[in-house]
Amino acid sequence: MASQEIETLASTLARLPGLGPRSARRAVLWLVKRRETALPELLEALSSVGEALVECQTCGNVDTRDPCAICADPRRDQRSLCVVEDVADLWALDKSRLFGGRYHVLGGRLSALDGVRPEDLNIADLLARVEAGGFDEIVLAMNATLEGQTTAHYLAERMEALPLRITQLAHGLPVGGELDYLDEGTLAQALRARRPMS
Ligand SMILES: [Zn+2]
Repeated sequence: MASQEIETLASTLARLPGLGPRSARRAVLWLVKRRETALPELLEALSSVGEALVECQTCGNVDTRDPCAICADPRRDQRSLCVVEDVADLWALDKSRLFGGRYHVLGGRLSALDGVRPEDLNIADLLARVEAGGFDEIVLAMNATLEGQTTAHYLAERMEALPLRITQLAHGLPVGGELDYLDEGTLAQALRARRPMS
């Protein structure tokens, strides 16, 4: 039987995405064994993140400043905008370094099943940003799920009348594939082979 403190830590960690109760207990044991080294580093990292993180009011990215580093970087391409479902997708794509433009985070995907409507996502902000002009290309980088594709088609329709090239990540993404689980090579290929939405 573990102490109450250890149980509390394990059950807190078990709520993190990708960690179940078993992995959480293993993480706790790993930390206990490294309480002189890794534990203080983790505490420090968690507390500075807790103090500093903000949501970028322009794109929805999470960073230590607003506007975020991407929005504030003048060297990035101002004319192309990549729309993603979640911040995790933005990070995955940006890590691949193949897209040099700006991003917009929707904060989810349309879903009739879960009752997610256009007004529940950052779609009004996106349309306002796009209608303000300055972009040549909008890359819809939704996940290759039914809901992701529904969302991409909805957005393409809403932007149809604007003088823009609207593209979509290439198929060949595994169906049901969530962007942030893809390896960088696959992601790079999907981005490079992006095609116009009809
Ligand atoms: Zn931003």
